[in-house]
Amino acid sequence: MKFYSTNNPQHQVSLAKAVIKGLAPDQGLYMPEKIPTLSKDFIANISGLSFQEVGYQVMGALFSEDLTKEEIKDLVDHTIVFDAPIVQVEEGIYSLELFHGPTLAFKDFGARFCSKLMSMLLTGSDKKVRVLVATSGDTGSAVANGFLGVEGVEVIILFPKGKVSELQEKQFTTLGKNIKALEVEGVFDDCQKMVKEAFLDKELNEKLLLTSANSINIARWIPQALYYFYAYSRLPKTNEKVVFSVPSGNFGNIAAGILAQRMGLPIDMFVAATNVNKVVPDYLRGNPFEAMASIPTISNSMDVGNPSNFPRLLVLYGNNEEILKEQVKGYFYTDEETVEVMRKVKSLGYTLDPHGAVGYKGLKDFMAENPGYQGVFLETAHPGKFRDVVEEALEESLVLPERLAAFMTGQKKVEPLENDFQEFKKYLMSLD
Ligand SMILES: *Cc1c(COP(=O)(O)O)cnc(C)c1O
Repeated sequence: MKFYSTNNPQHQVSLAKAVIKGLAPDQGLYMPEKIPTLSKDFIANISGLSFQEVGYQVMGALFSEDLTKEEIKDLVDHTIVFDAPIVQVEEGIYSLELFHGPTLAFKDFGARFCSKLMSMLLTGSDKKVRVLVATSGDTGSAVANGFLGVEGVEVIILFPKGKVSELQEKQFTTLGKNIKALEVEGVFDDCQKMVKEAFLDKELNEKLLLTSANSINIARWIPQALYYFYAYSRLPKTNEKVVFSVPSGNFGNIAAGILAQRMGLPIDMFVAATNVNKVVPDYLRGNPFEAMASIPTISNSMDVGNPSNFPRLLVLYGNNEEILKEQVKGYFYTDEETVEVMRKVKSLGYTLDPHGAVGYKGLKDFMAENPGYQGVFLETAHPGKFRDVVEEALEESLVLPERLAAFMTGQKKVEPLENDFQEFKKYLMSLD
């Protein structure tokens, strides 16, 4: 299978090249040249399959030209080492809990798949790979933990100083080994911009083998389609249509859901739910797409002013804006609304994290306007990851899961970095 750039369908590369490069040279995102559809039988019988079995079939459909059956099995088995249950929150509304992995956020799925696939594709090469990651929180922790100790790979994480919760920070600044953290005087978008610039810098790329593990990388992005299939497989069989609501920042997660839909999963509608960083909801409601500076919120993993995966949404709907706007409905919420929802849902007996709260609220508002649906919202992080916000909202203390508590005892190790690409370049050029 070839992968093409969203900026130029004529630019096509192999799987290995797409994964190792991350971003196309013209700054486009790689996309599979064809989207395979799964058989009606597979969909009809999906509820009888395990999460792994769903994974073999779905990843097999995409990667069977490039990887052996055994490699695909290895990849899926390495990725799916924790469950993603759906939990009923109220009548017809389910939480897809994606936080049962090592860093308690959905990015663990993509990070584990990505590190495994990269190490497979690099076998036999003697060049060290540098993975550059910009993070507003969860990407850094998931990628750092996914790549920790992977031979031949060094991970360099850029994060905005003072804009990431202590707990999130601990998860990527305390690991040591092949994980380096650079603390940037700026916001997330500054970090993302420097990383993008590094990938385009000729001199840097002659000296170093640089790659990305942000959701722009197909190896991070594609495996996220798996849990949409799995969630669907566990929903009760009814005559109602299915809607998925996805709390969104860079829009990789929802784009993977749309990929699943294009592969034949009968999802009728998507809700793109954001905080006040509402570029996409504004666009879906008829305004021009206008990137903006990101605004800090309590759902900080979604504080993105220029969503990097947006081009994938368009391409997945054949570059037809009308269809995109029909199939994806945008909603956005303030921090006050988010807190209110967390309190309301707590009274139903379920604790939301601030990101999941945004997803839940989008789903509720969609379903209030559109009867006849069963709804799933993606609970993208464990509430304990955003402990301060959740405790303040709910006025009660949370018990941290053991895995999270363990990170808090580590020693933070970072290097400061000015918000200046030349400084970043100097740092990279000094690596051997
Ligand atoms: C990254 C993240 C999101 C946003 O996901 P995108 O794929 O960037 O849209 C939502 N919630 C949490 C907890 C995250 O870490």
